[in-house]
Amino acid sequence: MRGILPAIGTALGAAACVFVVDGRWEGPAIALVGGIAAALLARGWDETVPSAALPAPAAPPLDEVLDAVGDAVLLVDRGRVVLANRAARDVLGAHVVGEDARVAIRHPAAAAALAQPDGRPVDLVGIGARDRHWAMRVAGTSGGLVVIDLHDRTEHAAAERMRVDFVANASHELRTPLASILGYIETLDDEAGEEPALRRRFLTIMMAEAQRMQRLVEDLISLSRIEADKFRLPDQSVDLGMLMAEVCAELRGSGSPRAMDVECATAGEVPPIAGDRAQLSQLFHNLIGNAMKYGRAATPVVARIERVTAGISIVVTDQGDGIASEHLPRLTERFYRVDPGRSRSLGGTGLGLAIVKHIVERHRGRLDIASRPGIGTTVTVTLPHPATPGAGLGAGSGAGAVIKE
Ligand code: ADP
Repeated sequence: MRGILPAIGTALGAAACVFVVDGRWEGPAIALVGGIAAALLARGWDETVPSAALPAPAAPPLDEVLDAVGDAVLLVDRGRVVLANRAARDVLGAHVVGEDARVAIRHPAAAAALAQPDGRPVDLVGIGARDRHWAMRVAGTSGGLVVIDLHDRTEHAAAERMRVDFVANASHELRTPLASILGYIETLDDEAGEEPALRRRFLTIMMAEAQRMQRLVEDLISLSRIEADKFRLPDQSVDLGMLMAEVCAELRGSGSPRAMDVECATAGEVPPIAGDRAQLSQLFHNLIGNAMKYGRAATPVVARIERVTAGISIVVTDQGDGIASEHLPRLTERFYRVDPGRSRSLGGTGLGLAIVKHIVERHRGRLDIASRPGIGTTVTVTLPHPATPGAGLGAGSGAGAVIKE
């Protein structure tokens, strides 16, 4: 474009001069179009000549090309492996070169696919390690070589299993209170409906079960919303101290028997962070709510905000039974509870910490849970300060840290 602008300018200038001298538009128009066309032609000529002169790059050897491919690839000639790329050697071992392909990939489905190389994907489980999933394609070439491509589907299979488990768990969690409500409706419809005391008792239970369903549905909706927003960085300016004070005031006025045990404090000056206000409010509710639920009656529930090197930390501590270390790595899984009966009786849905984990991830923060059985639990969320270069603290690490699913 650099060379063409002055040329167009010159063409415009020439056209203007002809118009001034001649007083008609046809001549200047022809001068203008001709000038621009000449400029374009000249530019095309200038730029095509050097690129046409570039030599074509030399093709690298086939084994080098295949080593750069992420999938495991094997070339098979008359049933024997003649080439295995780096990924294939990593999974199957370097010894497979020279072996019968059916021995190299010991799997009944693989043998059937090798007998009929039609390029269709076949699912294989257990190649390389017992729980690894693969999609294998076997395709023939015009030269008689057979190409085997093994594409790793382990992560996809794990995600699919999680999805199926989640749907099954959510259905089960919803079906239980629903069955109970239906049962009571039937009973009320019979003779029990006539007796006022019984009727009132049943209605109270039905209300509690309906509220349990409502909490569950609300948590499911929250979870899916947070997941949908996963890749959108939150951008509201949030004063965490003020937000925590609002949540604490709400909880202290909630009428819960633990309401007066909640203590909230902000240590010093805490600058605002870039966040999602509604989600961070939910994070405070879930963490302080858990501390109130699982801490011992009449012991303090302390929520604190402080500035740390990595950003701003929210620390919630309770004095309760704590959590045995073997449960820590699973607490943020959906519906994972240490004691399901206790969680349900306290109104838990089993989704609170999964929601917290997703909110923390969306804010590029970090979640740590430390607990001492018989003493209590401390949950720490560290959110990056906007001024932190390349803000983002990664997933939890260190003793008692949890972030996984
Ligand atoms: P729930 O709705 O069951 O409380 P969460 O996802 O919030 O679900 O927590 C998962 C489980 O982690 C709980 O069922 C409980 O067993 C355990 N847990 C969470 N917070 C605490 C805590 N502060 N003290 C002890 N156990 C806790």
